[in-house]
Amino acid sequence: MKRFLPYYKYLLRVRWPFIAALLAGAVFGAASGAGLPWMMKKVLPEIFGQGAEVPLMQLIGVALIMPGVFLVRGLSQFINNYLIQYCGLRVLEYIQVDVFARLQKLPLKFFQKHKSGDLLSRLMGDTQMMRMALVEISNDIIIQPMQMVGAIGFLVYMSMQKSEFFFLYICLATIPVCVMPIQMIGKKLFKKAKAVQEQTGDLTASVTDGLQAPMEIRSYNMQDGIVNTFQNQVIRLFKARMKVVKYDKMLGPAIEFVSACGVAVAIVYAGRAGLNFEADMMPLLMALYMCYDPIKKLGKIHTKIQRGNASLDRVEYLLHYPDELPDAEKPVPFEDVAGRIRFEAVNFAYDEQLALDNIHLEIPAGQVVALVGPSGAGKSTFASLIPRFYDVNEGCVFVDGHDVRAVSKSDLRGAIGVVSQSPVLFNATVLENIRIGNPEASDADVFEAAKKAHAHEFIESSLDDSYHTMVGEKGTRLSGGQRQRIAIARAFLKNAPILILDEATSALDSESEAKIQEALEELVKGRTTFIIAHRFSTIKIADRILVFDRGHIVADGPHEDIYDSSGLYRDLYDRQSG
Ligand code: ATP
Repeated sequence: MKRFLPYYKYLLRVRWPFIAALLAGAVFGAASGAGLPWMMKKVLPEIFGQGAEVPLMQLIGVALIMPGVFLVRGLSQFINNYLIQYCGLRVLEYIQVDVFARLQKLPLKFFQKHKSGDLLSRLMGDTQMMRMALVEISNDIIIQPMQMVGAIGFLVYMSMQKSEFFFLYICLATIPVCVMPIQMIGKKLFKKAKAVQEQTGDLTASVTDGLQAPMEIRSYNMQDGIVNTFQNQVIRLFKARMKVVKYDKMLGPAIEFVSACGVAVAIVYAGRAGLNFEADMMPLLMALYMCYDPIKKLGKIHTKIQRGNASLDRVEYLLHYPDELPDAEKPVPFEDVAGRIRFEAVNFAYDEQLALDNIHLEIPAGQVVALVGPSGAGKSTFASLIPRFYDVNEGCVFVDGHDVRAVSKSDLRGAIGVVSQSPVLFNATVLENIRIGNPEASDADVFEAAKKAHAHEFIESSLDDSYHTMVGEKGTRLSGGQRQRIAIARAFLKNAPILILDEATSALDSESEAKIQEALEELVKGRTTFIIAHRFSTIKIADRILVFDRGHIVADGPHEDIYDSSGLYRDLYDRQSG
């Protein structure tokens, strides 16, 4: 439980309802532990012991003690349960927001290494386990001992009245024996619970895979394979879960068996000592039950802690994941950016092999640069070092004379517009999707940007609800060309001095392509622009072309110059132009 201490800060935020819940829980514990046996001792002898001699009104008065005790017990139980749920759900909200915020700060590399389904399961499932461990366990740790103290108090009170009751302490001596199975089973459970959480992550990952690419799955007839993978994972999760169930459910009967031995000794002794059944034995048995019941529940807490620990491992992995791209401690101011870019002796590798090798380059502000070269040559990698999606291994990238690591990431990225080859739209309206470029922009600014991007016509004419049309998850209700134009509108609205355009590889119809081309020509004016040119259709708007080959820049200059000097470029160009 020590590991959870740092997370009690979440509980502190709901301390008042939590304290109220614990107080109600303490009342419930006492009403169960001492109240119920006391009620039996008070009510049963009156009703069964003296029978007809007791006046009816007195009998009714005595009988009313029962609903009275249950009313106190029930009310306090309700208040406790309600407030504990309230605190638990608030704590869950705080943890999930913190984990989600952490995920948003992690570098791109992290997402390439981890399956999104697994991250989803850590965020949604493991945090639930943590909530349970923090809130419900803290609650049980108060209530259960309270019930036990109440019951033991009652036993002590009884033993002071009748000397025979000393033997009851023998029964209580079995309590420590109950702790043994708790310890043994708990250890096993930790390992099994961790396996379950991992399997859940794998399962969520295969569900996301299966739902993310419906078109590919159908066109490659992958349905059976996907269903098989899913089924195997469900079976693996089932087996892992059953192991947890085995250990989890073993504990209760083990403790009950030990406590039943204690109760058996008590009953035999009581029978031989000639104790009265209603007046002595019934309340005593009730008090004994109230002693053992909390142990059983405390044993369950132990198993819950182990499951919580397993989930905590997985959540802490995210929370403590090292920040590979830390912001400078004192970032230099970065305003009125002109867009001068310089690469100085830059080496970069994703793994062992260099994706960029000793790049030296100077790009004046406002220049439009096309990056060309065979697939895997390093064009996208080159462009992604400018917004610091990755950090160089050696050398420096400068923007306006500042090392990109010296300015804050948010200032740097604020000065760079990116239009990727398959732009992602969020499940919101067209208007909201364009406004991502500049959240402060007015509706009129958004319309203006859409006009420049040649998006206005199709938004007005072919979308049911014009700018207020929902685009569907990832923009699936729009065509590739339409999505591209929305992304260009975003870039117009952002009005950043530096632009990175990853040209779409998918074939667009010629009308769409012409419109996108026109929009891009307008967009690049006055901005330092990098166009990752897959199809060479945009090359004519470039002032300069960089030819990449296996991590090197092998040619650099305007089309006319390098067409003659670079064989690789000539080949690529001639092949493209047919
Ligand atoms: P394309 O035209 O196909 O997009 P590219 O010229 O943009 O190719 P890059 O994407 O920059 O090429 O890739 C350069 C090299 O780095 C390739 O060998 C590629 O396999 C590798 N690479 C790219 N991204 C990653 C990554 N996330 N992790 C590991 N290696 C990568």
